[in-house]
Amino acid sequence: MGAFTVYVKYKGGKRDSLEKAITLLKTYLKAVVDEQKTFDSSDAVLVEDGTTPTLQDTDVIVYMVRNIEKSVIKKQGGTVATAEANDKILGMTDLNKKICEVYADRLFQDSPKELSGAIYHEVAHIKSNQDNAMHKGKNGFLTDAPDYNGTPTDDNNKFLAGVLAKKLTMNASY
Ligand SMILES: [Zn+2]
Repeated sequence: MGAFTVYVKYKGGKRDSLEKAITLLKTYLKAVVDEQKTFDSSDAVLVEDGTTPTLQDTDVIVYMVRNIEKSVIKKQGGTVATAEANDKILGMTDLNKKICEVYADRLFQDSPKELSGAIYHEVAHIKSNQDNAMHKGKNGFLTDAPDYNGTPTDDNNKFLAGVLAKKLTMNASY
């Protein structure tokens, strides 16, 4: 038993939004952890740019970048073509490079709700190791066009709980 932690590295956008999003994310993650037995607690942590947290092999890091031009995935040689073609997409996950990112300029009025929802969504992609297939049959926060104004549904939390223990090697130094 231990903690499941999501780190969000602040690389651009409105910092205040991220601080509020972290608070929301903590409550979302608690509901996920309540649905499984591997972890007995969870946390969401804001990481300053230029610092590198030590990740457990079950932890996730999501990069918050100013806009798609600042994409970490792109900088590391991946492709964000899907998000370049559709500005309604708030974030991307590269399953091969094991990078999750969200785009600050796509949030409606810097909405912390949208930001925390987009982070939750990308965590589900990397943990399930599924690209768009992850959206299939989902509701709430995990569809291909999610509404992040509510909270994750029970179905969302059960899905994420079911893949939460999956081990990953994510690079926290980008
Ligand atoms: Zn998605």
